[in-house]
Amino acid sequence: MPELPEVESLAEFLRERAVGRTIAAVEVVAFHALKTFNPPASALGGLTVTSVSRHGKFLDLDCDGLHFVTHLARAGWLRWRDDLSAAKPVRPGKGPLAVRVRLAPDDSGMAPGFDLTEAGTQKRLAVYVVKNPDEVPGVASLGPDPLAADFTPEALGEILRASRTQIKGLLRDQKVIAGIGNAYSDEVLHVAKMSPFKISATLTDAQVADLHEAIVTTLRDAVERARGLAAKDLKAEKKSGLRVHGRTGEKCEVCGDTIREVSFADSSLQYCPTCQTGGKPLADRRLSKLLK
Ligand SMILES: [Zn+2]
Repeated sequence: MPELPEVESLAEFLRERAVGRTIAAVEVVAFHALKTFNPPASALGGLTVTSVSRHGKFLDLDCDGLHFVTHLARAGWLRWRDDLSAAKPVRPGKGPLAVRVRLAPDDSGMAPGFDLTEAGTQKRLAVYVVKNPDEVPGVASLGPDPLAADFTPEALGEILRASRTQIKGLLRDQKVIAGIGNAYSDEVLHVAKMSPFKISATLTDAQVADLHEAIVTTLRDAVERARGLAAKDLKAEKKSGLRVHGRTGEKCEVCGDTIREVSFADSSLQYCPTCQTGGKPLADRRLSKLLK
């Protein structure tokens, strides 16, 4: 799933290639992906992409004041196409293609564009055509951006004190902090040497400062690594940069202990016992239920 660093990189990628170009057509292949009806997606035709930005994990193309906003969800991706001039209009079908955005041809006759695709059967990719990004409920309710200047250790401390939830869940909650998902919350907690089940309100000032540092450095590093990469190369880069997430059974690169996981109904978390939980493995609820 693309999180803040990947979406930031996609925004940068599109900024270089799409800004200043006119939209020729928006072809919606998966109707369920389009969450708004007025104005219609066809209203984007003829407008020029004036800027591209990110809100949490949402990507936002400002087209002369009309916004094309998308959330790629768990299995969605953006694929840049150098030339779609020979591609026939797409028809609704069963493939991964959800939405195709065609840009007007340049002097050389090349008509680039991009596809939003979604693998798998769970279709969660969402597209909104709105006059103001805040009309998108998931954007309006976003918490502060962790890379913004006002996301200070003090600001994080206030957020943590206001809640008695487990830190892993809190970091992933888009209404609390924008842009961090399952992968980077695992990474942040590993860097901060903190148990994912620690209760947020119990952190000391020193732990808040450590967590803040871990959030900012982990995300900044990931943004740096992703910078300049083509959209298609981002997934592999994300995976290679992760230290614990998705690495169950591998050795922790910091201490050499074996990375473990806790499974939930629809996700799992990974952590290093030596680095994060005083060497004690966390109870895997799914497993303990089975043993009862
Ligand atoms: Zn370790």
